Parts: sequence; C-alpha cells; structure tokens
Amino acid sequence: MHLLNADLHCHSTISDGTLTPEAVAQRAHANGVELWALTDHDEVGGQHRARQAANALGMGYLSGVEISVTFAGKTVHIVGLGFDIDDPAMVSGLADTRGGRERRARDMAADLARVGIPDAFEGALKYVGNPDLISRTHFARYMVEIGVCADPHDVFKRYLTEGKPGYVEHRWANLADAVRWIREAGGVAVIAHPGRYDFTPNEEYALFTEFKGHGGLGVEVVTGSHTVAEYGKYADMACEFDLLASRGSDFHDPAESHTDLGTLPDLPGRVTPIWEALADRVLRA
Ligand code: AMP
Ligand code: MN
Ligand code: MN
Ligand code: MN
Repeated sequence: MHLLNADLHCHSTISDGTLTPEAVAQRAHANGVELWALTDHDEVGGQHRARQAANALGMGYLSGVEISVTFAGKTVHIVGLGFDIDDPAMVSGLADTRGGRERRARDMAADLARVGIPDAFEGALKYVGNPDLISRTHFARYMVEIGVCADPHDVFKRYLTEGKPGYVEHRWANLADAVRWIREAGGVAVIAHPGRYDFTPNEEYALFTEFKGHGGLGVEVVTGSHTVAEYGKYADMACEFDLLASRGSDFHDPAESHTDLGTLPDLPGRVTPIWEALADRVLRA
C-alpha cells in the first residue's frame, strides 16, 4: 500500500530556517514529499511563496504556522494547518505573539554580555531573515560563529535555556487563543512535538485535555524531535485522546537538522493521519 509522504512541519528564512520558502519546497519535492506545509514560527509571511513554489512543482500544499504558547509556565508549540492565512484575528494574534521578540532578544543579549559574550544582539541579527522574528536559533548560530560553542545543539545545552545564561522568561500566546485563531480561520490545531516538553505526566495530561477542550484536533506523532519510542507513545496518546496524527520533519537547515524533509518513517497504522481530515483544504495549482 502507498502511504502519502506528507511533511507538515518545517521552517524557512521567514522564521529561523536558513533556506527560502522556494528552496524548502524544492528540497521537499526532491525528497519525495507529496503534501507539504511550511510552518514558520508565529508568522504567515512565507505562505504565498510556499504555496506557489509547491504548486509549480506539483506538490499539494496546506497553509501552516507554528504558534508559540505558554502553558503551565513552559513554552509549547501549536501547529496550525489548512487555515485562511488572511483571517484578521489570526493575523493580529500572530503579530501580538511576535511583538515581544525584539525586547526579549535585547534582554538575552544583555544577559550574555554578563557572562563575557558581548554584542550578541547585533551578531544574531546578521542571521535574521525577517526582522520581526529574531529567535534563539539566530543567537545559537552567532555563538557557533564566534566559537563559544561547537554547534547549535551545544549552545542550547549550555546557554539560552531555563537556568542558563541568555535565558529570558517570556510570555507567549495562551493555549485557548492559539487554538481559537486556528479554528476560527478554518484550520486544524496540532500539538507540536509533545515529546520535547519537560512536563510531568500530570502536566502532559492537562495539556492534552485542555487542548482537546479548546477544540484542538491533532498531535504530532512522527517528528524529527521524537525518538522511535516516542512515535509509539504518542500514537497511543493520539488513540486515547481521539486526536488525528501528524508527521513533520521540523527541518530548519541542511547541516543543522538531523532529519531531512520527507525522510521520516510512516505513521503507525493504528492512528488516523491528519491529512484525511484536511483533504478539502489542500491547495493545488
Ligand atoms: P524561540 O522561538 O526564539 O524560543 O526559539 C525556539 C527555537 O530554537 C526552536 O524552534 C528550535 O528551532 C530552536 N531550539 C530550541 N531548543 C533547541 C535545541 N535543544 N537544539 C536545537 N535547537 C533548539
Ligand atoms: Mn525553530
Ligand atoms: Mn517547535
Ligand atoms: Mn518547528
């Protein structure tokens, strides 16, 4: 049986990826992706370009975004798929969510200066493709450039995360708001890479329960951020919570990302693929 090669989570220069939307589309297509969504952080500015590039290559396209949310004091990511990218509440909600990023970045740089890493704001900016979207990833690339760390992964182990230099607590969108923006724009909300959050079992249960309560419909099961054991765990949770299952590489960069576009294993047979519920929202040429 042929299973669809869908990659419904990745990034471009519009957020913290290093390839343009067109180059991500090319790479996805070259790797055999048949249904694609570009899901830049808190931003839909790349959606027209992504759709056009996908359709020119004969790939189906779903609109996408990855919204930063604060839940139980921690950052959670909610992916939106198949929504109207011009929906006013979505557009203004994302603008508000992005809004605090520059202030946060300046505070991060001030904290890094205290541990002997000066000018990190300016340094990170060199890597930013969209001035509205300065992220920790851009700081990480700069810190590798100046030799503070060997690679971005090492940066996140030693800096920029809770309790480490350069970490600045930040309040993102509410879970209820993010799910509502997606739903009311006609899309489907998905819990991104649940295995990445440092939640207790109770907190994780609360996340899934509240997400469902707000009308969220999906969860990423097979993602570049999960281990093989987590594919199984979150397939079971998708069944338990009656959520649709999604699949996405979370690709950012050819060298940095350990999972390339379109190369993940198929979803386990016991889950329902989210694209079965999104067939009428696939954009084609
Ligand atoms: P921000 O939205 O500015 O907090 O940046 C979050 C981004 O940092 C994520 O989307 C990832 O691209 C990247 N990131 C977070 N943690 C790690 C990690 N441990 N290793 C590599 N990249 C990470
Ligand atoms: Mn990212
Ligand atoms: Mn994420
Ligand atoms: Mn992502």
